[in-house]
Amino acid sequence: MNPTTVQPIATLLIRRVFKWVLLCVVAFSSIHAWLSYQSIERNFDATARDVAETHLPLLSVAIWDIEPQTIQKQITLILKNTSVVYVAITASTGQTFVGGERGMVGMGKHMVFDIPAPAGNASKVGTLDLVVDTRILHRELIQSFLLITIEVVLLAVLILTAVVAILRRDLERPMRQLADYVRNIQADQLSSAVPIALPDVQAYSEIDLVYEGFQVMHNRIKQHIVHQDALVMERTMQLEKAMESLKQLSITDGLTGCYNRLLFNERMPSEMRRAKRYERPLSIIFCDIDFFKKVNDQYGHSVGDKVLIAFVQCLMQEIRVAVDWVVRYGGEEFVVVLPETRLSSAIEVAERMRRRVESTLESVITSGEGMTITASFGVAQKTEIDNIDSLVNRADSCLYVAKSSGRNRVCPSK
Ligand code: GH3
Ligand code: MG
Ligand code: MG
Repeated sequence: MNPTTVQPIATLLIRRVFKWVLLCVVAFSSIHAWLSYQSIERNFDATARDVAETHLPLLSVAIWDIEPQTIQKQITLILKNTSVVYVAITASTGQTFVGGERGMVGMGKHMVFDIPAPAGNASKVGTLDLVVDTRILHRELIQSFLLITIEVVLLAVLILTAVVAILRRDLERPMRQLADYVRNIQADQLSSAVPIALPDVQAYSEIDLVYEGFQVMHNRIKQHIVHQDALVMERTMQLEKAMESLKQLSITDGLTGCYNRLLFNERMPSEMRRAKRYERPLSIIFCDIDFFKKVNDQYGHSVGDKVLIAFVQCLMQEIRVAVDWVVRYGGEEFVVVLPETRLSSAIEVAERMRRRVESTLESVITSGEGMTITASFGVAQKTEIDNIDSLVNRADSCLYVAKSSGRNRVCPSK
């Protein structure tokens, strides 16, 4: 969801609450206005009645004694009351006395009182008609209504503002922090703690539940990642071991256990470079078992295999561990690589090998009359112009010379 379309939770809640508050304000103001209206109208009537009752005894005497001036004076006094706008006194004799604004007669409220006869006399002497100005009543009502409405609205605004502030602090902000954190979290941060500051309140609320939920989720992810890491490490080690043994298998000759041609092709260039860069001697011995076909023919292929294995053992016993190395170059031809070795030393090594083969391989053949097994050796030291092929060819040529000059001998290159 687009973040700009997010409606703050506090705003949503306040909007809903606001409608109810508005309804309550209207209802409360209306009830209050109605009660005020009742009260003000009662007070208004009571005031008019007071005015009338104050002047009735004097009016009674004035009418009884037929004193028009006194009656008129009373009318003036009554009119001093701001709510009374017109006064009409009708005596029993038919005489009428009026005062005030005649125009208000049809607009104001009429309140008619009987003027009793003075004490001791029966019946009434006339009527007092007061016209009161209802505009004052309405004005008072509107003022009261407005005051109440303003008070209630102010109170509602204050309460809503406080609620908004509390909602923002205690609900909206933590929720937003959680949402931002969850939305922006990177894969490598999954195992770190949830960096959210909860509001410092005593109550344990749903926010705390959500926060705790995230912590639990985090811990589980963390455990899962640790477990997965361990698993990956274990699998990687297993894989590395398998790769190592595969590599070993791929570079090892299956029968004799020495290196194969693949390893020779892989390792020989670096031996050549090293010798060239540091101007160090490098020699190789090319060797081949003499009349090996005969061994196979006479004793069988499996005996031939045993002879090959024993032949490699003889070669291995004459080389330096971790420096020199033996390669099965093809069939029963082997190449011994001697780094840091001059031709003279290589010849000595080849000679030792020749002697060991001559003296020990016979014992491999147990059945039959026995047969001396020998091998021929061609030795060459790398020259400045040699590459791998030329070096091997020179050693091979020497081997050929050794073979052709009688076998069981070491022949060095010139
Ligand atoms: P030479 O003295 O001229 O080397 O005579 P040779 O009989 O040894 O001739 P050559 O080197 O050409 O013979 C190679 C023989 O080696 C042929 C093959 O049958 C045998 N051979 C090659 N690889 C193996 C092997 O893995 N096991 C066995 N038993 N024999 C092998
Ligand atoms: Mg041979
Ligand atoms: Mg051969």
